[in-house]
Amino acid sequence: METPCPLCGATAPHKMTMPIHARTFRPTAYGAIYECAACRFGFVWPRPTLAETAEFYELEGDVYYTRGVSHMATGGQGFWERLRLHLAWRLDYGESLFDVILSELPAGASIVDIGCGDGAFVVRLCAAGYTAIGVERDAASLARQRGTALEGSAEALPRELARGSQDAIVFSHVLEHLIDPVTAFATACALLKPGGLVFCEVPNNESLIAKASGLAWAQLDIPLHINFFTDRSLRRLVALAGARVKRGYFCNFYRYFSDSFIATEQRIHDRLPHGLAKRNSKARSWAMLARAALATPARKYDSVGLVAAPGTSSSEEFER
Ligand SMILES: [Zn+2]
Repeated sequence: METPCPLCGATAPHKMTMPIHARTFRPTAYGAIYECAACRFGFVWPRPTLAETAEFYELEGDVYYTRGVSHMATGGQGFWERLRLHLAWRLDYGESLFDVILSELPAGASIVDIGCGDGAFVVRLCAAGYTAIGVERDAASLARQRGTALEGSAEALPRELARGSQDAIVFSHVLEHLIDPVTAFATACALLKPGGLVFCEVPNNESLIAKASGLAWAQLDIPLHINFFTDRSLRRLVALAGARVKRGYFCNFYRYFSDSFIATEQRIHDRLPHGLAKRNSKARSWAMLARAALATPARKYDSVGLVAAPGTSSSEEFER
């Protein structure tokens, strides 16, 4: 089984199929993942419609982060768990999206956080001296309730946002949810003033934790996630959207040693048909810590980010 890669047109063989919704554990028709042999872009095929993606977020008890409620499981916090997490924290040299923004944008800059969820990041940007506003399609999100976000989505941007009016766009863990991330990225670029920047961050599909946990990986999150990026395929997307990469970064390491992540992956594992996923155990977590500590950033961190600017990409930048 194979299908053409939406980003580069090369052959994308079938990689694996997640048979259940990672949060409701009900069967899903959108769990077959294909991965491009050339650019490493992973994607769910066939694609859901926009109306169907809205249904994926209808979760019992409104358990979604846009509403300030976490779906993550909780685990115990014994001595060894705390030690493991502390060691992982000491080894975490990843840059945060917030620090990357601080280093690139002067105070007072205008920022739109598209898919802002609960709006906590918008509040943090405003507190740092930026003029930030969110965009969120979930009317029940805390951000919409508190007035820190406009109604809209990456596919349908709010009319209040004029073309050429913004210094920066943020896509924080959003592009992996979109049916057409290239068009969404390009459309958002039109909101920027000359010299404006896009900050995007997504789960890193070539991380050690992604490979080790497979279908139970907490960030696979089928069917809410339908695109799976690597540094290389994210750069490819930026080039296709008519932008060039200014800098890249990797982040998020120690959190996947937390009991919350381990318990969440165990819960998914336990609901999968026997033999489909490997168990994320506390013992495995120690081995993972040792391996990840020595790995390259592209393998160590569970998220990858880029700062991009509209304008033609040089081939050198996305052929990396
Ligand atoms: Zn490709």
